[in-house]
This record gives sequence, C-alpha cells and structure tokens, in this order.
Amino acid sequence: MLTYDQWETAEKPSFPSDNETKGALDVLAWAYREYGDEIVYACSFGVEGIVLIDLISQVKPDAEIVFLDTGLHFQETYDTIAKVKEKYPSLRIVMKQPRLTLEEQKAQFGDELWKRDPNKCCELRKVIPLREVLTGVTAWISGLRREQSPTRRHVEYINKDDKFRSIKVCPLIHWTWKDVWNYVYKHGLPYNVLHDRGYPSIGCAPCTAPATDPNDLRSGRWAGQGKTECGLHLA
Ligand code: SF4
Repeated sequence: MLTYDQWETAEKPSFPSDNETKGALDVLAWAYREYGDEIVYACSFGVEGIVLIDLISQVKPDAEIVFLDTGLHFQETYDTIAKVKEKYPSLRIVMKQPRLTLEEQKAQFGDELWKRDPNKCCELRKVIPLREVLTGVTAWISGLRREQSPTRRHVEYINKDDKFRSIKVCPLIHWTWKDVWNYVYKHGLPYNVLHDRGYPSIGCAPCTAPATDPNDLRSGRWAGQGKTECGLHLA
C-alpha cells in the first residue's frame, strides 16, 4: 500500500487522462482497491463534490464521505446534503463537528472569530477536525482542480500531503469548470442552488459571498480578508 512514510521509495501509479472522465474513474478505482476502507472523501458538497460523489458511487457504493460541519454553513448546503443522501442511500455520509460548539468558541475566543482571525477559526472548525478524521486512515480524496487557482496548478492525481502526513488523491485535476457542469447536467445530479445565484465556490456563510471576479471562481471566499484557502490544502 502506498503510504505517507513510504512515499520516497514506493512506485507511484500513473493514469491516462485522455478518456471520458479525464482519468478520474481510473484514479478512484485504484484508490479504493489500494486503500479499501482506509480512505475517506472530505467533501464540501460544492458542485465538484457532487461529481466526485457520483463517480465514487460507481466504484465504491458504500464509501465514507466526510463533511466538515463547522455549524456555519448555508441552509442550502445542508439541503444539498439531504438530497445527496436520498440519491445515494448506501454512501456513509459523516457530519464531522469541531470539538468546540459555537458558544464555546465564543466564550474562549470572542464573538465572530471569523471576522477577526479567520485563520484561527478555520483551524478550530476545519483543520483540526480533518486531522482527527485522517488519524484513522491512510489516504483522503479531495476535489481540487488545477484550474481553480494558481496555488492548485501543480496538484497531481496522487500527492504526498505533508500537512496531514497522508496521501491525498485528487481525481479531478484535469477537469474544467465547464466539464464539471456538463457532467452534472448530463446525469441530472442535484446541486447547491447557491451556484445559480452567483456563488461558484461555497464555504461557510459568514465567509462566502457571490464571486466578484468572473475569472476567479474563488473570489467570493473571504473577500477583503487577504485569505484564499481554509488551510486544508496548505503545507
Ligand atoms: Fe470560520 Fe469562515 Fe473558516 Fe468557516 S470559513 S471555519 S466561518 S473562518
């Protein structure tokens, strides 16, 4: 099994990217063969997440899907999760909560921490919970696409993840925004209705606005706060 500790010496698999899913189904089939139940998909239930869930359901119908439930998501996101549960009843969708409730976070760090120190808030409500999830597995799946931002341009299908000392599998690296939507429409998949209201990228409600730059799909995330990533994908 390809593990974090054996990364330097292990042989890495390669995958063709010139097929219908641009390699994604091959990568997922390999990942579930390689890791079985020792791999989870950390899903934000944005539109890329819906595509990945549909692809995963074709190779591992009872896969574990983890949602980092910060307690601050839009109601529309929770509605999307309900629709996905209905469509894919055999998937195991886990709502992972932070150790601190919002009230406890307020008592320890003050009200609306996301306005004063979003990095700390993301650490408490996303990074630490994901670390807890990944403690029990060898690898995780992410919906990163190279097109999303300059910091994601060099992501590979299979990555050594130093932040979480894990293997990070990214099946959608070659997918464009158009590819994602073509797939969703072709297969009639449910998706977050906020995508139709100007939100290409959807995170927590206090930190997500409609995109301000049509060429930057993440321009509505932490707008004006000098932050572009929640910290899950930084070394
Ligand atoms: Fe907190 Fe905003 Fe990060 Fe959500 S996205 S965890 S509200 S800082």
